[in-house]
Amino acid sequence: MSNLYECHCHIALDGEDFKTAAAKHKNGADMMHIRSVFEKYRSMSFAYIRDGGDKWGVSAAASKIAAEYGIEYASPVFPIHKKGNYGSFIGRSFESMADYRGLVKEVKNSGGDFIKVMASGIMDFGRFGVLTGWELSLDEMREMVTIAHGEGFAVMVHVNGADGVKRCVEAGADSIEHGNYMDEDAVRYIAESGCVWVPTVSATTELRGKNLFPEDMLGRILNMQEENIRLGAALGALVASGSDAGAKCVYHGEGSIKEIEYLSAFISEDQLLKAQEKIRQVFKRQG
Ligand SMILES: [Zn+2]
Repeated sequence: MSNLYECHCHIALDGEDFKTAAAKHKNGADMMHIRSVFEKYRSMSFAYIRDGGDKWGVSAAASKIAAEYGIEYASPVFPIHKKGNYGSFIGRSFESMADYRGLVKEVKNSGGDFIKVMASGIMDFGRFGVLTGWELSLDEMREMVTIAHGEGFAVMVHVNGADGVKRCVEAGADSIEHGNYMDEDAVRYIAESGCVWVPTVSATTELRGKNLFPEDMLGRILNMQEENIRLGAALGALVASGSDAGAKCVYHGEGSIKEIEYLSAFISEDQLLKAQEKIRQVFKRQG
């Protein structure tokens, strides 16, 4: 039976450097690549995929053929970041809120299912607790979420750091992606808001043992995330499985299965199903 969920995937990428993906799609979405990824997910019994988007039109092209593989596929078309902030390698940027509105309209016209926003950087693997790049303010996030919701879109937010997560939850984000470096309060914010958290542990676990980043740093990041997943589970937070498949060393299919297995050690099957189903229901455009 096809019943597995992958709630954070990048179909455009391939687990290698993003530059190899950019090269693959330089003359438009590589349909052979998309088909081989879908074929893999189909063969591994996946029924649902939510993508994080890309700037090469790959996710948009994938939307058109997902049904051929019996897969329900939700796409933000491209992720959106503020110019100068993290995200230029994979997404589109805005400078003013008028630009942002224009991008949201473009997602709508391209048949996108939801809006993906990059609200912070990622971990600086050389310095524990430090993030790359700066973050969006609460006012900016509020306005962005309001605009997206006004167009009938749910908002998937890439964010790390306790304060960043709290701001995004307060602004009304519908899902928090990654959420590394949270404190207890940030996990409580998530649990109490009903917003879904996708901790993407595979994006860290799969980097281990590859001589890419300091092992102790990866271990500390992972321990912290694990503690917070435990706390989230205890507080009844909605935690969903999404591996960031396509990101460095996270392979489509295999990475997605590993994420489910990892989370299953901390979260009951019922709780996981509830979170996944909420994602499936919320991350499609209303009206
Ligand atoms: Zn991602």
